[in-house]
Amino acid sequence: MKKLVALTLASLMLLAGCSSTPKNDGNEATPTPEAAATEADVIVVGAGGAGMTAAIEAVNAGKSVIVIEKAAMTGGNTTRSTGGMNAANTPEQDKNDFAEDAGVEKMLASAKENYPDLAELTATVEKQYEEYKANPTGYFDTEELFMLDTLVGGKNLNDHALVEVLANEAKNGIEWLKTIDANLSQVGSFGGASVKRIHKPVNDEGKTVAVGSYLVPKLTKAAEDKGVQFVMETAATELVVTDGKVTGVKAGDTTYTGKAVILATGGFAANTEMVLKYKPSYEGFVCTNAPGMTGDGIVMATAIGADTVDMEQIQIHPTVSQETSALITEGLRGDGAILVNSEGKRFFDEVGTRDAVSAAEVAQPGGFAWLIVDNKMVEASSVIAGYIKQGLTVEGADVEALAAAMGVDGAALVETMDKWNACVEAGKDEEFGRTSFANKLDEGPYYAIKVAPGVHHTMGGLKINTNTEVLDASGNAIPGLYAAGEVTGGVHGANRLGGNAVADIIVFGRIAGQQAAAYAN
Ligand code: ADP
Repeated sequence: MKKLVALTLASLMLLAGCSSTPKNDGNEATPTPEAAATEADVIVVGAGGAGMTAAIEAVNAGKSVIVIEKAAMTGGNTTRSTGGMNAANTPEQDKNDFAEDAGVEKMLASAKENYPDLAELTATVEKQYEEYKANPTGYFDTEELFMLDTLVGGKNLNDHALVEVLANEAKNGIEWLKTIDANLSQVGSFGGASVKRIHKPVNDEGKTVAVGSYLVPKLTKAAEDKGVQFVMETAATELVVTDGKVTGVKAGDTTYTGKAVILATGGFAANTEMVLKYKPSYEGFVCTNAPGMTGDGIVMATAIGADTVDMEQIQIHPTVSQETSALITEGLRGDGAILVNSEGKRFFDEVGTRDAVSAAEVAQPGGFAWLIVDNKMVEASSVIAGYIKQGLTVEGADVEALAAAMGVDGAALVETMDKWNACVEAGKDEEFGRTSFANKLDEGPYYAIKVAPGVHHTMGGLKINTNTEVLDASGNAIPGLYAAGEVTGGVHGANRLGGNAVADIIVFGRIAGQQAAAYAN
């Protein structure tokens, strides 16, 4: 009976995205010997996506692992991720018909015009695209096009070696996720990607579900099943260095000792002081992050000589509800939603990069926009149903009623919607150059969400090499110290593409776990 209760509790906690080994609150029996351990081969700091992925891979390589997490639940910002994971050249993509010629051609033209330094990569992609057009089999995407999109999106500030690893390994990450029962089976369009590349989970009814709340319980369960020890509600404060090697972390009075340490503490978007230090212009912006994203890993590692990169590259996301700081996924725009201003008019290519869409939005009267979807979109996505349930939407049975609910001019919105639906039909948007259209917005009821930019992702962070070793100012690896996920910098350059954060945590989380385990031998 006792066991049954424990199991039920564990599964309930799992559903809530929690670890089933919470901190002893003093009301429980003596902790198990495992729960009291302070020594393991590998110590991971942070139980978000990158940390748990690293922990699982270190155990897969035969190592004992302790994960220290400052929150009461696993998941960090990863839990809040709604979109999906970018990966190129996957069997999931091949299930789609290729109709993204305009997207590829636009990217090739933009790369040629704006990024002569990327000429070689651009020529490779062009050749691949021509070969595909001569013999179209499957869906067209390549690791090189994924790289090109990421570099152009990141204004070519990215670390090319890290981007190459991201692009080459993401498809293996999609396969690896299947080993922990996570299947990102549906592929869609997303901002900054030339083709359908973002891989999303769907529920039993075939509706898209948010990727973070789908992955986190699965990562947590896999880590627990494999014997990873979670130490919850415990904030690491300092790295321990012995003879020039990182050999553990301190969390208050307790020292956790290991042969290697992996920092996976996420970014610093929730640390207003740190954000404003690098971007004073973001004063007053809301933040989409969980409160724990305060840059602790960056502080701890720089204190022992680690280098950082691109710290001033902080992303604002264009579709954030200002009242609740809730992020409205870019997937809605990828799946056909449009943005209109307070005059009921479209003003930009909705699937442009986040920095560009945010800037366009800020330039509108009042600095905000309305994101519009129709009933067909609602029926295909449990994510939108969630927004409706949370009270984030206004609605109308037809476009005029929606306009009244939004407080915008009815005739103007009707004209905008008619014009947009004609663009979808023609597959061409002459006014703003959007190239992905999905379906017409023509079935009531219609819904709109009021959005404006919010601080979302910190692209900068600890400098790492392709083995996820943390580097010092001279470019040397700090022995025993690894980092993965948003705590690191260089992968995303000046602007992170939607779908690349999950790719980052899975790809580099895996590498960190494998490398730290090899180092711990
Ligand atoms: P990523 O996407 O890179 O995996 P997340 O934001 O998902 O990053 O997760 C980072 C995790 O690290 C969060 O769960 C956060 O609470 C945790 N964390 C941050 N700072 C500390 C710290 N000092 N000690 C322990 N855990 C931390």
